[in-house]
Amino acid sequence: MPDYDVIVVGGGIAGVCSAVAAKRMGVSVLLLEKDMALGGVLTNALVNPMMTFHSPLRQIAGAIAQEIVDRLVKIKGSYGHIKDPIGFVKTITPFEPEKLKTVLINMLHQENVDYLFGCLVSDVKTKNGTVTQIEVATMQKKINLNGKIYIDSTGDGNFCIKAGAPYVEGNNDRKRCQPMTLIMKLSRVNKKEIISYIQTNPEQFTLANSPDFSYLAVSGFFDHMKKLEKYNVRFKRDRLLFFEVPFREDEVFMNTTRYPGYAADPMELTRAQSCASLDIWNFLEFLNNEIPGFESAKLEQVGCTIGIRETSHIIGDYQLTIKDLLETRDFQDKIAIGAYPVDLHSPNSSGLKTIKIPYPGEYQIPLRSLFPQGLNNVLLSGRNISADHLAFSAIRTSPLAASIGLAAGICAAIAVRENCNIRDVRYQELQGEIKRMGGIL
Ligand SMILES: Cc1cc2nc3c(=O)[nH]c(=O)nc-3n(C[C@H](O)[C@H](O)[C@H](O)COP(=O)(O)OP(=O)(O)OC[C@H]3O[C@@H](n4cnc5c(N)ncnc54)[C@H](O)[C@@H]3O)c2cc1C
Repeated sequence: MPDYDVIVVGGGIAGVCSAVAAKRMGVSVLLLEKDMALGGVLTNALVNPMMTFHSPLRQIAGAIAQEIVDRLVKIKGSYGHIKDPIGFVKTITPFEPEKLKTVLINMLHQENVDYLFGCLVSDVKTKNGTVTQIEVATMQKKINLNGKIYIDSTGDGNFCIKAGAPYVEGNNDRKRCQPMTLIMKLSRVNKKEIISYIQTNPEQFTLANSPDFSYLAVSGFFDHMKKLEKYNVRFKRDRLLFFEVPFREDEVFMNTTRYPGYAADPMELTRAQSCASLDIWNFLEFLNNEIPGFESAKLEQVGCTIGIRETSHIIGDYQLTIKDLLETRDFQDKIAIGAYPVDLHSPNSSGLKTIKIPYPGEYQIPLRSLFPQGLNNVLLSGRNISADHLAFSAIRTSPLAASIGLAAGICAAIAVRENCNIRDVRYQELQGEIKRMGGIL
């Protein structure tokens, strides 16, 4: 294998945006993904919809993230951004996961980005804080690869942890991570019956003002959920949460199950995934028997992997805090904007803790939160930037992960081009390049 200017580890939405951005800046790029698809949890765990591309005031994610949505719309893989019927955020962006895989592969092909599936970065060699070589486990043997700059878009910072960066587990306590969720796609759902039930029982749902039901997004059936216990499932939840599959009116993504655990521990991950797999059939029986509109619902697909919300947080040069978000703090070195509120799934109860960001509902991500302490040539990208537990529960969603990915890719390319340390990249130059590529600051 040749050496590369930039090696991106992880092919989720953040990793793809980093790889494309770096390549468009003219450097050579290799992307490594341990699974067999691009998109990370958006494709492998059936997470849907993307939210949110808008604050109450304006669009806050653009550039490659918007290009992905435009490409999806073109091939009937998304309706684009639509008003959130639940009213939690300004807009949501539902999409068809198989079409997202197609769009992301096509983007890498068009940009001539080299990428490899089935490649787990299993070890990272460093000298005086500089990553000198990485070891990649493939099915038969381990290979060594060299890059000048590395981008950790693994979702949980496992590249940086292998390189020796400091980190904390969960909320400084591995028992207090947000729970995992196995998402399933169901067919033969009666949309008309569900809408009619919502319209006659609005107090049983969280709804936007004058909701538009042309697209079905539901958070509720609160009283019905009290009967879940009778069905011997291993999770607790106070509501059903589901979203219509675009262009398939009788299908929904059901995002409701919850399993506690520290997913970086293989024993806890296995327990959560096994419980979730075993619960599917009892949960389906509950839906068929108890929920209006689900009498004939059938299981169509289950995420290849349980969705992992939270494991560890890398300590960066700057750790973004909940105070920064709630005070809508200005950072000179801002590189991305988020607008998703705090949405903390409780590890031990059935509920949610949500906190709205004061108007205009936006917060800034500083470049320094992408620099893992003690490492000279590694950038964090996506949901694994340095943030405390509560700030993380806001910044963790996909449009912002994509915007951070864009910035990480450009920053890496500038460092290569100018042959400088990542910390010597001038944030003004980076901000200029972000805007030139259509990013929003
Ligand atoms: C249950 C659940 C529900 C969610 N709901 C929503 C929602 O409704 N809307 C929304 O916008 N967001 C939601 N999110 C959050 C959001 O989807 C993700 O946080 C976001 O997509 C993160 O993107 P990412 O690229 O940073 O990471 P990921 O999507 O996690 O991608 C990381 C990639 O890195 C790969 N990888 C990891 N380690 C290695 C390694 N060592 N070597 C090689 N490859 C590696 C992984 O296989 C993966 O493909 C949800 C998340 C979960 C889990």
